[in-house]
Amino acid sequence: MSRSASSRANRRGEPPPSPEPLPSPALDSHTHLDIVVGERPAHGAGDEGWPDDAEVDAEIAAAAAVGVPRLVQVGVDVPSSRWSAELATRHPQVLAAVAVHPNEAGSGAADNDALAEIDRLAALPRVRAVGETGLDRFRTGPEGWAAQEASFRAHIRIAKEHGIALVIHDRDAHEEILRVLDDEGAPEHTVFHCFSGDADFAKACVHRGHVLSFAGTLTFANAAYLREAAALTPATQLLVETDAPFLTPMPHRGRPNASRLIPHTVRALAEVKAMDLSELCEALTSTAERVFGTWE
Ligand SMILES: [Zn+2]
Repeated sequence: MSRSASSRANRRGEPPPSPEPLPSPALDSHTHLDIVVGERPAHGAGDEGWPDDAEVDAEIAAAAAVGVPRLVQVGVDVPSSRWSAELATRHPQVLAAVAVHPNEAGSGAADNDALAEIDRLAALPRVRAVGETGLDRFRTGPEGWAAQEASFRAHIRIAKEHGIALVIHDRDAHEEILRVLDDEGAPEHTVFHCFSGDADFAKACVHRGHVLSFAGTLTFANAAYLREAAALTPATQLLVETDAPFLTPMPHRGRPNASRLIPHTVRALAEVKAMDLSELCEALTSTAERVFGTWE
């Protein structure tokens, strides 16, 4: 075990074992490999603290081994967006999303320089989404809401200008997100990452043509409202994700998450949709390729 692997185990506990592989290839539409594998560097830390390529490659290979050969690596600030774009450029199993996260934006991080860099990264061929962006009314207080909304609007414009998808972070802000999307005009492909609404909100999103991406929260005992939302969403508007290292699905809730654990969520979704598991995997992959383009 390398030094960074042992410190990772100390910090978050040993990662759980991989589940039984999926019968057909599926994907993880939202992961943060830099946080799964490494200790995220502080702002301005440059290249220090980024995980080494071998450890990242091992995680990607572990996902492929359980039928998850396609990942979307998501940036949350300028340094992690740059790292995500670089990883996608060198790795055929990875596409990238780039953005300044709404909580960072709420404290002023989405300034003109940062947005110009996101715009530059969004033009790269392996960057296929702008995100995660949106609104967070849970962790950002009212003093940050104006800056957060201005950043969200700027990110929507960048996605549309480059003709790529938009990946939305929505925390306690369902109606406000729809208000801004309707006002700006949503990009053709708009994904609600870690969908957290109920059946009514799911209907409002589905009606607008948006895509709902479900995380490990779908498997939680107290999340009947999410299963209702997933049940009414057409398979063509469904994605799955880990948001690793967060939101670990049952039966491993509380331990560190990784893309190789997504079969738990896919199996839960197949049950909710009463769909054959292989058919669901195929539907998820074709939706992902419609939204993000093809991986290879
Ligand atoms: Zn995320």
